[in-house]
Amino acid sequence: MKDVQDIIVVGGGPVGSFAALILSKLGKKVTVFEEHPEIGSPVHCAGHLSITSLRALGLYPLPDKIIENEFSQANFYSYSGFSFPAILSKPVTCAVNRELFDKHIFIKAKDAGVSFHLNSRVQSLLIENGFVRGVKVNQGEGKEEIFRAKIVLDAEGISSRLLKQTGLVPLNPKRLVYAVQADVENVKNLQSNRVNVYFGKAYAPGFYAWFIPKLEGTAKIGLATNNGNPNNFLQRLITRHPIASQYLTRARVKNKEFHSITLGGPIPKLCLNGFMALGDVASQVKPTTGGGVVFGLRSSIIAAQVANLAINNDDVSSNFLKLYQKQFKKSFSFDFTVMLIIRNFLDSLSDEKLDRILRFCRKIGLNKTIENIDEIDLQGRTLLKTLIKPTVSVALVYLLINYLVANGLNLD
Ligand SMILES: Cc1cc2nc3c(=O)[nH]c(=O)nc-3n(C[C@H](O)[C@H](O)[C@H](O)COP(=O)(O)OP(=O)(O)OC[C@H]3O[C@@H](n4cnc5c(N)ncnc54)[C@H](O)[C@@H]3O)c2cc1C
Repeated sequence: MKDVQDIIVVGGGPVGSFAALILSKLGKKVTVFEEHPEIGSPVHCAGHLSITSLRALGLYPLPDKIIENEFSQANFYSYSGFSFPAILSKPVTCAVNRELFDKHIFIKAKDAGVSFHLNSRVQSLLIENGFVRGVKVNQGEGKEEIFRAKIVLDAEGISSRLLKQTGLVPLNPKRLVYAVQADVENVKNLQSNRVNVYFGKAYAPGFYAWFIPKLEGTAKIGLATNNGNPNNFLQRLITRHPIASQYLTRARVKNKEFHSITLGGPIPKLCLNGFMALGDVASQVKPTTGGGVVFGLRSSIIAAQVANLAINNDDVSSNFLKLYQKQFKKSFSFDFTVMLIIRNFLDSLSDEKLDRILRFCRKIGLNKTIENIDEIDLQGRTLLKTLIKPTVSVALVYLLINYLVANGLNLD
């Protein structure tokens, strides 16, 4: 009979591997199952991350080949091509090569003693007497094997197949957007220090499109939409967008990948007896930007510490594990609440209204007062900190009026 592991992690994405790394460093026996033959592939993510957050996670600086570029500017374009430039005093974000980034965490975890099983799809959870006690794994050739553990960490990503088996409420499918991510070569007039964000229902209804320059005339582009085929929208962005088409008409598009992004905020309950959910499966993703790497990694630190304590205390019941839920809420619920309000507000705006808002914000010089921001993940706290600046307050009052009007307040 196989050893009972302390921890089994489902999914060798960044979140699963990072949780495994922390637990192994805490002295626990950890096994990760990943269904693909290789970690980090296929890539379906733009890899646009905050430098401050990576540093806080102990992941920055990263080896040079993982960092594709760093950015101190973001240009937000309305449907008409009007731009609101946010120019920061130093590089605040970077683009990472997601395949190499995932492999980097994987190698650290392996070096720390984590056992990885690739090509190993977890078919279902092993549930006995109301406790998750392990997993049933298909390692090819139709062979299904049982692996036991004291706690199973579910980091399976957005598919949520195993989470559904537990009866926990999965992420809200109505708040999913469907995304395409691609590399482009032969980009014209590339301004390599700035990320471009394009709003507009003709190009990315329900979200936005992005253009993230790398070096030497290459870039990553993508978009997400809440209705229709993202591939068709991408084609339209490349050929017809008033700004993007200027760079992209002669570009070669490569490595297109399709995947969903969850924008509904964290699922209500994160654990059960012997079971914890983290990362995309728990919808720990910024509702504003769809960025999930940093919150997934931050959550995996909390989950790993609680799992370690639970095993040391010989109590893996949900009553003990809910400490993870409590600490997650204490750490992040304010930021998620603010980001959900912003997402709902953005969703309620017409193209014309968003265009007017960007023009107003630029007119009052909002872009000049945010130049020292470097925290872009904990967005609720960042907003609070900047409130003392008059332009931010004026912009907020303006946005609040627009929000109330969009939600039914009649000012006549
Ligand atoms: C187009 C696009 C662009 C994005 N851009 C950004 C960005 O710029 N910045 C950012 O922060 N976030 C971005 N995201 C979100 C980001 O990709 C996710 O938040 C992040 O990958 C979540 O990590 P994870 O480990 O939870 O899940 P994943 O990265 O999805 O990893 C889950 C892993 O589990 C494996 N798995 C699933 N089921 C099983 C099973 N049953 N058995 C074994 N293995 C299994 C999968 O193969 C996968 O390797 C983007 C997402 C998309 C779709």
